[in-house]
Amino acid sequence: MHPMGSIIPLLTEFEKEHLSERQPLPERYLGLSDAEMASRIAIARATLGNRLLILGHHYQRDEVIRFADFTGDSFKLARHIATRPEAEFIVFCGVHFMAESADVLCAPHQQVILPDLAAGCSMADMAEPEQLQQCWEDLQKMGVAAGAVPVTYINSAASIKAFVGEQGGTVCTSSNAEATLRWAFARGEKVLFLPDQHLGRNTAFKMGIPLDQMVVWDPNEESGGLDSEQVRRAKMILWKGHCSVHVRFTAAQIAATRAQYPGIRVIVHPEVPLDVVQAADDAGSTEYIIGQVKGSPEGSVWAVGTEVHLVNRLATEVAPGKTVISLDQFGCLCSTMFRVSPNHLLWILEELVAGRVQNRVTVSEDQKHWNRVALDRMLSIQ
Ligand code: SF4
Repeated sequence: MHPMGSIIPLLTEFEKEHLSERQPLPERYLGLSDAEMASRIAIARATLGNRLLILGHHYQRDEVIRFADFTGDSFKLARHIATRPEAEFIVFCGVHFMAESADVLCAPHQQVILPDLAAGCSMADMAEPEQLQQCWEDLQKMGVAAGAVPVTYINSAASIKAFVGEQGGTVCTSSNAEATLRWAFARGEKVLFLPDQHLGRNTAFKMGIPLDQMVVWDPNEESGGLDSEQVRRAKMILWKGHCSVHVRFTAAQIAATRAQYPGIRVIVHPEVPLDVVQAADDAGSTEYIIGQVKGSPEGSVWAVGTEVHLVNRLATEVAPGKTVISLDQFGCLCSTMFRVSPNHLLWILEELVAGRVQNRVTVSEDQKHWNRVALDRMLSIQ
């Protein structure tokens, strides 16, 4: 059994709400041994051949990601979609917003499948299209919308990406956030950044924008909880959203880790709060973290602040020459990523072999155009 197999993830309010929509896994797919699932998944993959492309996000569990044709962060996986036009079925082992983006970026003959439709993202759910529409109207009333460029992190719903694309903005990932802000400031005097306030703040601060030129827009407050003067003075308007996994990392954990392991290097994902980035030695996307750890000299000892499946896998891959531990001793687990199980993957693949498509994710035609505009801008910014 996988080391995380015994952990029952705590459910967020978002997950409790969406569990009711979850596709029931047929009973015959429950209680299978790891060995049987691995063997049947391998048979189904071989049967489907080039008609199938499996993409696996770094935060997926080992027993799922080992079947991926490509692994990566959101940015890297989005780029892989165009490289396999012969694949009819793109099985996305990740979360819902990633499958939506894949549906926008793939060709019309390709279908995108999410093994478990309950695999959402609580951060993406913190920005709803009605809230963004209201925010934009408020910014118009304050007289600042014309000079503001909206930028949404890829961890957002297709409806949000469509809005941003239509308003001349773009999508960004943690890999290209800094380049995206440069792109945006070349086009406007301020940026509305959503839904992750921490990625926006960390990136802008690194670029030299002082904290007193950043405000937090609370979508649950009238006018974001801000007055016109505060918004007019700000260069960065940060949406009040966060990742429930990455906000669990703290500067106190870094201090305790350094005391326990003198000389340890601490690297974190930029979805963590600013004080944690400040206390760490380095910060960057999952691809950046992997590159830094793998490229470090033999004997290096690292504490990594991101989702625990990536951290554990990295530890195994670089051992015995290097040591990698999680910055949080209990390991921060993304419970929605964890919903994609080998049982779901097996079910999806055997259904495809039988000629049935389950759990297809589609973006409505009226949203596709502006999603594509926004995502193409994202892919062009590096
Ligand atoms: S790690 Fe955070 S941002 Fe990523 S999918 Fe999970 S909840 Fe969403």
